[in-house]
Amino acid sequence: MTDPSRAGELDAVIVGAGPNGLAAAVTLARAGLRVRVYERADQPGGGAASRELTIPGFLHDVCSAVHPLAFESRFFREFGLRRRVSFAVPEVSFAQPLDGGRAGIAYRDLERTRDELGVDGRAYERLMRPLADHATEVAEFTGSSLVRVPPDPLTVIRFGLRALEQGGPLWNARFREDAAPAMLTGVAAHTILRQPSLAASGAGLALATYAHAEGWPIPIGGSQAIVDAMVDDLRAHGGEVVLEHEVTSLRDLPPARATLLDVTPRALLRLAGDRMPARYRRALERFRYGGGVAKVDFALSEPVPWTNAEVRRAGTVHVGGTRAEMAAAENDVNRGRLPERPYVLVAQPSLFDPQRAPAGMHTLWTYTHVPAGSDADRAEAVIAQIERFAPGFRDTIVATSSRSAVEVEQHNPNYPGGDIGAGAPDLVQLVRRPVLSPDPWRTPIPGIYLASASASPGPGVHGLVGWFAALSALRHEFGTGALPDLSPRG
Ligand SMILES: Cc1cc2nc3c(=O)[nH]c(=O)nc-3n(C[C@H](O)[C@H](O)[C@H](O)COP(=O)(O)OP(=O)(O)OC[C@H]3O[C@@H](n4cnc5c(N)ncnc54)[C@H](O)[C@@H]3O)c2cc1C
Repeated sequence: MTDPSRAGELDAVIVGAGPNGLAAAVTLARAGLRVRVYERADQPGGGAASRELTIPGFLHDVCSAVHPLAFESRFFREFGLRRRVSFAVPEVSFAQPLDGGRAGIAYRDLERTRDELGVDGRAYERLMRPLADHATEVAEFTGSSLVRVPPDPLTVIRFGLRALEQGGPLWNARFREDAAPAMLTGVAAHTILRQPSLAASGAGLALATYAHAEGWPIPIGGSQAIVDAMVDDLRAHGGEVVLEHEVTSLRDLPPARATLLDVTPRALLRLAGDRMPARYRRALERFRYGGGVAKVDFALSEPVPWTNAEVRRAGTVHVGGTRAEMAAAENDVNRGRLPERPYVLVAQPSLFDPQRAPAGMHTLWTYTHVPAGSDADRAEAVIAQIERFAPGFRDTIVATSSRSAVEVEQHNPNYPGGDIGAGAPDLVQLVRRPVLSPDPWRTPIPGIYLASASASPGPGVHGLVGWFAALSALRHEFGTGALPDLSPRG
């Protein structure tokens, strides 16, 4: 596809080496184009980077740790991620500890989950079975632009009815005890949205679907292993990654037919300056950012001493107690208040990957939700919540790395105010992300594409935004609708 008379020139420039920027770069390089990626950080990966955050010998995931979409994302399936990276898939996808040593346990095995849930087991199974049995269709629907016609209407109807139930006043109607509802709020709260709400319950149900299908994989060697696989493929196909190079204006970029930006609408406005048409500028200015996170990582002398033995086997733990308690904490965050007993997301990667810490020792990954732009250090609040369900946890801590929401943004400008979704994933912004269009990746500036989680289908390590943006650029700038072969042998 490259024109030999333009030898040495670039076909495509990517700004940002996050999973979406790299997915875009890989796709374009695989189409035979000359591609260069500029990244401001000293390592590629953005929200999927790993490094020693506490003490030498302890490898922490700087942002994402658990990858429910590693096997379900259509981009990763095309890319053959499972053949390139080793994953551990915990038998317990997520756990929800409750007071008194009880817990709701989401096994990958839905029947076992049902049996352990007791009186609410059948109700939980009736909610989840039709989705878990069609996990690929759920991923296809939630992983495409919602402006398009859904490929499998029956799954969409099943999904929609359940999201309506779990996202509104009837959310407790099917359950008699507290474990199953707490499990569902534990996943819905990933969104940092008001509880209950339709967008939160939809995201939560999608996550629970994957939990009971392929599970929630943890990459051996950290999330960076996913990034390294993409960078290796890009380089193998002639692409380059330039690190420690912050792009501050589109004018500073070398000429190329397509420029794909793994940045937020806020950054796009700055980069484009007066090249931005007024109407599109207003649309981007309307784009809303959500609540923030404060991240706390630990090096531990031993695994977390959860009172409930099954929680000790979970890849992910949602800490925050009952549905009502977590909803109150999340609604506090949405009203701009720091919750006293916050919802804390915990991952225990070193239980499944011995490469993360010296023998016998462990890493623990946590974050908690805070109002956007908060500069609060939440290490103590996180420790207190974990202690509640794992007395003695404090004594296992060898070192701590704590970042406020403000510091999360300083580390990566794609998370304004600490918003790890790069834009609130509410109902309006799931459809209009960042604008209402069947091709929301293409901007009105010729040759410029948005390829970050701020565009459809939104946050998560799945590479789909970059892939869709690259396919749009291939169609519009290079005149090809062909899907490049991304497979390891391609
Ligand atoms: C604390 C935290 C925990 C998370 N946990 C999970 C999880 O467990 N599972 C999951 O699936 N997702 C998780 N996420 C979300 C996930 O990481 C993001 O949705 C995903 O990384 C988005 O990918 P992206 O490529 O759009 O953006 P990013 O990964 O943010 O990458 C953007 C890249 O662009 C670079 N960049 C930005 N501006 C410029 C510029 N002007 N010049 C040069 N470079 C620039 C940045 O440095 C960065 O490397 C988490 C995020 C955070 C922050």
